[in-house]
Amino acid sequence: MDYIIASDFTLLLIFKGFMAYPKLFIPGPTHVSEDILNAFSTYQVGHRTPEFSELTQTVITGIQKVLYTQNKVFLASHAATGLWELGLRNTYKPNSKILFAVNGAFSSKWSTVGDKCGFKYSTIDKSWETGIHPEDIDDQLSTGDYDIFCMVHNETSTGVLSDLEPISKLLKNKYPNVIWMVDAVSSMAGVKIEVDKLGIDFIFASTQKAWGLPAGFAVCSVSDRILDRSKNIKNKGYFFDLEVYDKYYEKWQTPVTPSIPHLFGLKATIEKIENEGLENRWERHIECGKYTREWAINHGQQFFPEKSCLSPTITCIQNDQKWDINAINDKLLGKGYRMDRGYGKLRGQTFRIAHMGNVYLDDLKDYLAQFDNVLTELNY
Ligand code: PLP
Repeated sequence: MDYIIASDFTLLLIFKGFMAYPKLFIPGPTHVSEDILNAFSTYQVGHRTPEFSELTQTVITGIQKVLYTQNKVFLASHAATGLWELGLRNTYKPNSKILFAVNGAFSSKWSTVGDKCGFKYSTIDKSWETGIHPEDIDDQLSTGDYDIFCMVHNETSTGVLSDLEPISKLLKNKYPNVIWMVDAVSSMAGVKIEVDKLGIDFIFASTQKAWGLPAGFAVCSVSDRILDRSKNIKNKGYFFDLEVYDKYYEKWQTPVTPSIPHLFGLKATIEKIENEGLENRWERHIECGKYTREWAINHGQQFFPEKSCLSPTITCIQNDQKWDINAINDKLLGKGYRMDRGYGKLRGQTFRIAHMGNVYLDDLKDYLAQFDNVLTELNY
């Protein structure tokens, strides 16, 4: 048996070409199960063929069900970061102004994308422990300056989930002309989001979080009013132009050669979701969140987010017990698990446990039992 030792003490075992990596409990990429991995090695199909259109139609119809939407769903062979830009480029008009609600690292990055595109915008900067509420945006929107509002549903950096319903009510009642864009990168397919009922114009996620697929692919649902608006916007470039997407949509195709393995993976995932049942899936994520929080409380830990906005897909634990996170990380790696050690400015102060996608309650129980073993080994 050969082995190599990676720089971060990961023991990578190589058995005749088979490599065992630690099981992921980080908030993306998340663990991909064997059945989904196998779907990725399906024989390729040509992307301008009837068999491709059939595959795409199945995938799109399945995603529409997960999102409770009749809106068009587009498939993108790149990370969600591209969809931040796609959303803005297809809605921003010469007199537009964007309002970004910022309550964490990813919502902040989205505003940077607006900035880099040279668009006019403002941010509402909230404390990172809390969700976005209607009262946070009402004053700004009432100025009439803004026609686009962007927010992150589930801040992956902090495990803060914002409640979309009161925001939907506000926008519907007072600002029906404002385009609403929601980053659901770490909530889509793990949290119930009724897109049409809420009236979300643009919502998207990459596949490496609660969809439980490998990274490098993203999906979005787009309202008709965005598609209409996009037609009157010039200089959007080609790659991110929704008009181009829409032209190919008519044939159940994608504008460019897509990641076909992801489409087979998505098809398998959708079948899995249908077998589980949507309501069961949402409930499972809620249960996993509860289990993780009880575990943390039993260990004398608190949470980084306020109580009212704890996420069902990620738990961000404030390390009040001052555990040596790096030592825990090394020991967990030795047992075959990859933990998170906090994101960006919260690295070291917090650590996150992801419980989404292919992470079921039994997986979580195994992981937390191993975590307990490590704590005992470290005399905590
Ligand atoms: N938005 C959120 C909330 C995220 O968590 C991430 C990545 O972790 C992104 C956007 C960027 O996604 P991607 O890496 O697929 O571009």
